[in-house]
Amino acid sequence: MGKILWFLSFYLCVSISFADEAFQVVVLGSGGGPKESDVSGYLAAPIHSQDFIALDAGSLLSGIYIAHQKGSFEGIEVDPNSPFHPAVDIFRHHIQAYLLSHAHLDHVLGLVINSTEDLPKPIFGIDVVIDFLRDYLFNGKIWPNFGSEGNSPCFSQYQYCRLVPEKKIAIPNTGMFVEPFLLSHPKEYLSTAFLVESNDSYLVYFGDTAPDCLEAKKRMDVIWKRLVPLALEKKLKGIFLECSYLDKPDTELFGHLDAKHMMQELHYFASLVDEVHPETALQGVKILVTHIKDPLLKEGLFKQAIAEELQRCNDLGVIFIFPSQGERIVL
Ligand SMILES: [Zn+2]
Ligand SMILES: [Zn+2]
Repeated sequence: MGKILWFLSFYLCVSISFADEAFQVVVLGSGGGPKESDVSGYLAAPIHSQDFIALDAGSLLSGIYIAHQKGSFEGIEVDPNSPFHPAVDIFRHHIQAYLLSHAHLDHVLGLVINSTEDLPKPIFGIDVVIDFLRDYLFNGKIWPNFGSEGNSPCFSQYQYCRLVPEKKIAIPNTGMFVEPFLLSHPKEYLSTAFLVESNDSYLVYFGDTAPDCLEAKKRMDVIWKRLVPLALEKKLKGIFLECSYLDKPDTELFGHLDAKHMMQELHYFASLVDEVHPETALQGVKILVTHIKDPLLKEGLFKQAIAEELQRCNDLGVIFIFPSQGERIVL
């Protein structure tokens, strides 16, 4: 009898925790430079899906090769008769769309260089991101025009889809929806946060962002307020938030967060979720720390320093996750 009860409770625990899983993420690149082989790029899909979106594409194909090597695409079907490396099949056939937070090179580099081998797909971005791609990258000078607007010859391999801030739209062939929000990076240079929905579960991916306390326009505030009901209903599976630096004077942040400002933003969010008990409002919420700008210290030292600092200040009970290239993360 005891054994049966043990088995039942084990089975219930396992199925509850599995039932709770909504997204799978494969990390193609997690840094914020200067190392060009590991810069912002994440594949995300509903947990049992094979159809991913790319959230930024600084590292793309090179990250897929590493993730494949690490077994992060186990179960993803590729054509066994294809003469191409499986990573190439995944790149071509299992990414359904690109969502670009902004056009800085560390967020688009892979997409541009890999474009010669890609298939027709949509690129989603706010106006300024699409304009910069069209005018400065896929312009026939820096690179052939693989976009759907701009200088001829225009190959239209990538269909530009212009996002309207705070307007939710479906991402074709993925079962997912995206709601974009503007970010300051800094001042008038715009970046984007993407709120991604699958089956009433959510993740939010912040592109590069300045903290609200240094900006006239409080853009992060808009997103935090949007996230409050999702946090209360436990529908928010993960927050990808940048922490470029360990500790910088405000004048040297250049539109990024350091550990102190990241914690400040999280404290503010916590106070919105539960004004009376902010200290428990975000307990167990997963924060994926992205865009660490490693000043080329010995392997892992800088990431470790940021991890220690964030953990030291973690009086909110959030779970910090430090994505590493090639890793698969379930949220
Ligand atoms: Zn960046
Ligand atoms: Zn940037």
